Amino acid sequence: DPRLQAISAAIRVVPHFPKPGIMFNDITTLLLHPKVFKDVVEIFVDRYRDMEISAVAGIEARGFIFGPSIALAIGAKFIPLRKPKKLPGEVFSEAYELEYGTDCLEMHVGAVHPGERVLVIDDLVATGGTLCAAIRLLGPMQTEWKACLYTRRVPSLKLHNQVNLRRYSLL
Ligand code: 5GP
Repeated sequence: DPRLQAISAAIRVVPHFPKPGIMFNDITTLLLHPKVFKDVVEIFVDRYRDMEISAVAGIEARGFIFGPSIALAIGAKFIPLRKPKKLPGEVFSEAYELEYGTDCLEMHVGAVHPGERVLVIDDLVATGGTLCAAIRLLGPMQTEWKACLYTRRVPSLKLHNQVNLRRYSLL
């Protein structure tokens, strides 16, 4: 796909952020190029529009940048998967390991129903821990799909082999 080169070039790599040794892929520079931003959304929309997806779940925070546009274009609802204590209603919670420490994702009870086909959106997968937490949150009743903008360290995804890796789709 000729669009991928421009997408990759628009992502700034910031060495040693947020801590020494991490090569941080900064997608905010991509957002400054409307044509490239539009291409990202269109690639995912074309990939998922005819798959009877009824919900797009965006992972806080950068999944909130790409997810809603994709949801509107494919006629799906949008579900925010948030960091702890942000959602006001009753929530399901899933803790997960970070590179250092743990974090948690939460989703409102009732946001998704058994049997729905959900597309999970985030900007980047590194160890896969966040993605696995999102999938556990959606539960075994749903069919889950994953769309990531970019991947930094694919081999480490094997650490989380409880999730079907073939369902991940990367730009
Ligand atoms: P993982 O759980 O796969 O180790 O980390 C992925 C999560 O951390 C995603 O929610 C992603 O937004 C964030 N993240 C980790 N590294 C980077 C990075 O280099 N760039 C960006 N934009 N996000 C990152």
